[in-house]
Amino acid sequence: MLNLMTNDRCREFGIQKSARLGYTKVLVASVLYMAEHKKRSSVVFQPIDDEADGFVVDEVDPVIAEMKVIKAIFPEWEKKNEKNNLKKKVMKGVIIDFRGGDAAGRYRRLTKQCAFIDEADALPREVGKGKKGEGNPLGLAKKRLKGAAYPKFVVGTTPTVKGLSHIEDFLSSAEIVIRFYLPCPHCEHEQVLVWGGRDAQFGLTWDDTKSTRAGKANSAHYVCEGCHDHFHYADLYEMEQAGRWIGEDGTWTRTGEDDDWYTAEGERIPCPESVGMQVWAAYSLNLDGWGELVMDWLKAEGKPLDEKTFINTTL
Ligand SMILES: [Zn+2]
Repeated sequence: MLNLMTNDRCREFGIQKSARLGYTKVLVASVLYMAEHKKRSSVVFQPIDDEADGFVVDEVDPVIAEMKVIKAIFPEWEKKNEKNNLKKKVMKGVIIDFRGGDAAGRYRRLTKQCAFIDEADALPREVGKGKKGEGNPLGLAKKRLKGAAYPKFVVGTTPTVKGLSHIEDFLSSAEIVIRFYLPCPHCEHEQVLVWGGRDAQFGLTWDDTKSTRAGKANSAHYVCEGCHDHFHYADLYEMEQAGRWIGEDGTWTRTGEDDDWYTAEGERIPCPESVGMQVWAAYSLNLDGWGELVMDWLKAEGKPLDEKTFINTTL
């Protein structure tokens, strides 16, 4: 994720993701890396202005306070003034802007090398005053990159409603959409992690004969699509070390870096310019265990609104 958000060949990167993947941290790291290392200016869009302000207070300012390399290019880091506020950080040779993306005016008068859109599916389909629509917010954000030698457009979000989703549109037009294939520790069959559920042939599941929710959650395990043997959350770290991100046509990468892309036959190719990614909570190394996800499902099951939340934010 981080490598695709920062390498120079990939011009557009979109991620359809669940919560709990540390995406916000990765986003902040990318914006600051682009500023310090590559001297590139960014704009970060959040769904509304209040959220953009909160993002700066909660996620950006505390990180800057911990980073010597950023402080070195940002003499005003400890002050509050026209060069350092909730909307703008003016560093040496670089300006980072933070805006709400819900009004057309917020996309004007900006020339940037990088545009990041967070929680894009919370944005309207079209922005503009009254009936005068000015267009799709992703398209308006991309226009801010015109003339950049290495334009970088990044959009990441949990999805909302099928058919009305910006990220779904992005993935359908991307050159390639990659998903993370992990080898089974028993049979080495490479597979994408899926939610299996109660009676699944394979995927993430649990022992439903246990009498309590906690007992069921504690029995969470994964049934391999290849050999039907089980593996567990404790196996995940090593499986991910050996994993490959693979696209629909078999094109793959391990790291997402611009010199690490191959065809299905193993021939080296350049990193695609437009990459989509789908990843969900089961891949997170920050969980207490897969039981956390099973417990959330057992609590939501049978309640349509809670099920919808689980599907959109966890799966
Ligand atoms: Zn297996």
